[in-house]
Parts: sequence; structure tokens; C-alpha cells
Amino acid sequence: MAIIGIDLGTTNSLAAVWRNGKSELIPNAAGDFLTPSAVSIDSDGTILVGRAARDRLVSAPDCSAARFKRFMGSAKTYTLAGRAFRPEDLSSFILRSLREDAEAYLGEPVTEAVVSVPAYFAEAQRAATKRAAALAGLKVERLVNEPSAAAVAGHISEGEQDKVCLVFDLGGGTLDVSLVERFGNVVSVTAVSGDNRLGGEDFDQAIARGFCEDCGLDFDRLSPRQQEMITRQAETCKMALTHQEIVGMSVDDGEISGALTLSNEWLIRKSGALFQRMIAPIQRVFLDAGISYQELDDLVMVGGSSHMPVVRRYISRFLHKEPSRDSRPDTAIALGAGICAGIKARTGDLKELVLTDVCPFTLGVARYNASESARDLMSPIIERNSVLPTSKMGVYYTVRDGQDKVDIRIYQGEHRYCADNTLLGQLVLKVPPAPRGQQSVRIRFTYDINGLLEVEVANEAGQMERLVLQNKDMAPEEAQRRLQELSKLKLHPREQEECRAMLARGERLFAATVGGLREEVGQMLDWYQQHLSSQEALRIAKATKKIDQFFDQVEAYIGDAALPPPEPFEEDEL
Ligand code: ADP
Ligand code: MG
Repeated sequence: MAIIGIDLGTTNSLAAVWRNGKSELIPNAAGDFLTPSAVSIDSDGTILVGRAARDRLVSAPDCSAARFKRFMGSAKTYTLAGRAFRPEDLSSFILRSLREDAEAYLGEPVTEAVVSVPAYFAEAQRAATKRAAALAGLKVERLVNEPSAAAVAGHISEGEQDKVCLVFDLGGGTLDVSLVERFGNVVSVTAVSGDNRLGGEDFDQAIARGFCEDCGLDFDRLSPRQQEMITRQAETCKMALTHQEIVGMSVDDGEISGALTLSNEWLIRKSGALFQRMIAPIQRVFLDAGISYQELDDLVMVGGSSHMPVVRRYISRFLHKEPSRDSRPDTAIALGAGICAGIKARTGDLKELVLTDVCPFTLGVARYNASESARDLMSPIIERNSVLPTSKMGVYYTVRDGQDKVDIRIYQGEHRYCADNTLLGQLVLKVPPAPRGQQSVRIRFTYDINGLLEVEVANEAGQMERLVLQNKDMAPEEAQRRLQELSKLKLHPREQEECRAMLARGERLFAATVGGLREEVGQMLDWYQQHLSSQEALRIAKATKKIDQFFDQVEAYIGDAALPPPEPFEEDEL
């Protein structure tokens, strides 16, 4: 039985496994390493995950969802084809699909995983991630911060040099910045910060809005379908700008139309504010770690958006440092998670590597506020960015004469007032009545690398109370019930996934085109469906390849009308 490492991203997810002395990426059914983090319910009630689901965001928005990682641990629900799902339910489908891909690839059952999460994730979001894994039939004891995973991947490939390295991870929806120090075989994250509302999607939005602005369209007044269409195209253009100087963008769906030539300078003009927001978390990690910019040895840029030359240039200018040459924006985190899975499985060749982590938030208790008794103050015990595992103690005195118990409320967060932070749990301990300030309690917090917080309180007489906070997990019965409910929903058969994805792609292109081209797309789809219904594997494979090329041409043509129009092929040609 294998343990796999999973990068469960907002936009894309990947899995890796430690085998033969290295971390290896696991391909999905379509042969890709990146599985889009999208879920859709098909007309027959099966669950589609990945590329097909992503394409159905446009053609079947009421049955499809994406970007739900942003709402992990919140009460938000998504309604897909009339059924309600929480973000963790949707994430569990992604995890289940990755698990099945891994089982097919490895030829053995996979029951355990190390999953990476943004360093900035709070306790409730981490707990929701673990629940999602449980719903996917995966035991997850260890979550690893994404930047730590990226750093570990770098550490293995670069040998054992002592280094201070900044990991800058700009993904689809989040920015994570961390300082990682490596000493021989010890990899320590010394500070983390970030912005969980900043990522590649914001650039897509900025391009889409900038395009509309320059073409005299009002983005906010377009239909959701038109907005999605323009945003998708904005993303395609954004990616093209990573390897070419200018790119044409045009839309025409019969109702609205516009065309523009985009360049990286144009992109900077339209998204300037986003660049400034990247700097604050960088400044904060240096400040928190007490390290100066001059002490930085290595800049590791990961996350899909780190492909963007404008982002690379901006960050390396700010830090006076070139990004390290072997940064692998798309796969570093998954590869690192694979290494962590290897460590977890105690594979012989990895025993040497020691990985520590930091607590990304402050944990503390409520303290009486003498000037405003209704507003308790946050008294930190474990400070943000403490290295894990850690154990810290605080001493607190009684505040009233004759007080016979202390009420300990445990909070997580960075705000001054408890009411603005998150309440994690509560504990009461008796104390001998005495004049105020004459009795004390000692509160010890022990926080381990698996996210388990142990709270111990002792009074002067040596009496103790103890509480273990295992995140905010659901009760076991509730988890079991939910598991049964979700397992009734079947994932689409793996072997048909590629065809299903191709159909979804065609439906999306059908929605994105007009006139003669649209008609051709429709005809090609009919043609393809006929081949599918033959159920002959070879014939289907040939048809799939053929229609894939046709769709490529359609997409290129949509993106740049100067290209020759796509050529449909003869009905009987195969
Ligand atoms: P996440 O960690 O949020 O799942 P990823 O690290 O996979 O995200 O990054 C996804 C983002 O990267 C998307 O916004 C995508 O548009 C962007 N991206 C991927 N490749 C490129 C590229 N070549 N150029 C620019 N942006 C890219
Ligand atoms: Mg990511």
C-alpha cells in the first residue's frame, strides 16, 4: 500500500509518489500531470472531475463548480444539478479522482496521503481539508505547507547547502510567501505570510476588464456566460504573453464584439495594483524572521503564475535576485509533497531529511480587559511563525476577589480583541478562593506538526485540566453518514474520461463561437458521437485524436482571427 503526496490546488491538483529514490509525478487518465480542480455532475448523475468539468463551467454552469478551495472550512454551499455540496465535498471528488489515478498508475491500493495546504490556511480550513481526504477514503495525518513542500523539492535537487531561501508561490487564487532555511539535512520554515485573495485569476480579471474598457464594453453588464468567455480568453492570452511579446485578443459572439493587441506593457498598466500587493507579504516574512534582504541566498518562484515574465521581473527587481534556475512552477509542490509522503512512509533513502514547519497563526487565550470588561483581549501563547512542534506556557492571575474558578477560552488569530478571532475551545479549572491576583494558573499549549493542539491548565495546588483540540472535526457518526452519502455518487469511469472531456470541450467551443464556425463545431461533435457509440476502442482513439486537432485549430482561431479558419474534415475520413 502506497502513500502519495497531493498538491490540492485552487486551480490545478497533482499527485506524486516516492519511488526508486525519487519523487515521481502521477499522470491522470488523460495522461496529464495537472488535473484542473473542477467538478461537474453529468446528465446521467456521474461526477466529472478535471478538464471535462472545467470545460463544463461554461456549457453547464448550473452543474459545475471550481475555485471552491477558497471557501474550504466555510459554511458556503454549492448547488450542482439541484444537490447541495460543501467545498470539502467537492474537494473530496478531486482527491478521489487523484487516488484512483494513483492506484491505476501504481497498481496497488492507495489509502494514505500527505496533502499540501497554503501556509496561510487557518485551523478550520486545515480541518476541512482533512475531512475532504477522509471522504475520499484517504487517511491524512500530515498536512504540509505548500511552500515548505516546494522548498523540500528544491533541497533534494540542490544537495546539502546551507541556505536562506524565499519561496514565492503565486497560484490561481492565492499568494504564499515563506522564508525557508536549510542547514544540512534540516529544512526549517522560519516565517510565512501571504494574501489568500491574490492570484492568476486576478490577472485574468484585470485583462478581461482592461480589454472591455479599451473596446468600449462594460464588463459588469455582460451576461455571466459572456464574462466567463472573455475571462477564459484573457487567461489564454495571459499565458501566450509568457513566451511572446504581443498577442491578439478578439471576441465576437453575435451580440458583442471587440479586438485588441495585448502586450506585457499593456498588462502592467491594467494590473498595476496587483503587483504592489505582492510586496507586503515579502516584507512581512523578512521582518518576522529578523533577516535582511542581503542575507537571502535563493529565490524560488513557484505556482503557475510565476511563469509570467512580468511577475518574475517585478519580484527579482524588488529583491535584487534572479529566481533560481531550477524553479518548477507547476510541479515543485506536488514533488515536495511526494517527498513528504516518502518521509512519512519512512523509506530508507529518506531517513536523513528532517522537516520542521511553522504555525502560521497565533494561538492564545482570552484575557480580562480592565478598561473595557465586555471586550476580552487576546493573550498570545504560541506566536505566529513559531517552529513546530512547540510547547509554550503562560501564567495568568485571578481578577476578582474570592474567584473560585478560571474560565479559559482558547482562540486563534491575530486580532487584539478575542471577538475578532476564532474560538477553538473552552476549559474550566477550579481555584481556591482568595483575594484577586493571589492565585494563578499555568496554561501550557503544545502544538504538533499534525495540527493537534493540547491545552493543559494547572492551578497552584497542582490540580489539572486537559483538552485536546483536533481541529474542528465532525463527529464520527456525522462523518460516516456523509461518507455513505457521497460514495453513492459515482465518478465517471476512467477509461471514458478522455472522450467525455473532448465532448465537454466541444460543447464549450460551441458556446464560444457563432455562425458558420459554430455550425462546423456542431457537425464535428455529431460525427464524434457517432464514433463513440460504435464502442470500438481503436476507432474511438483515432476519432479522438482527429477532433482534438480540429478543436486546437478552432481555439487558435478564436484567439487570433488572423489565423486561417479551421478546416473541418470529411465525414468518413478517419
Ligand atoms: P493553484 O495552486 O491555485 O492551483 P497553479 O499553481 O496551478 O494554481 O496556478 C494556476 C494559475 O497559473 C492560473 O491562474 C493560470 O492561469 C496560471 N498559469 C499557468 N500557466 C501559466 C503561464 N504559462 N503563464 C501565465 N500564467 C500561467
Ligand atoms: Mg498551488
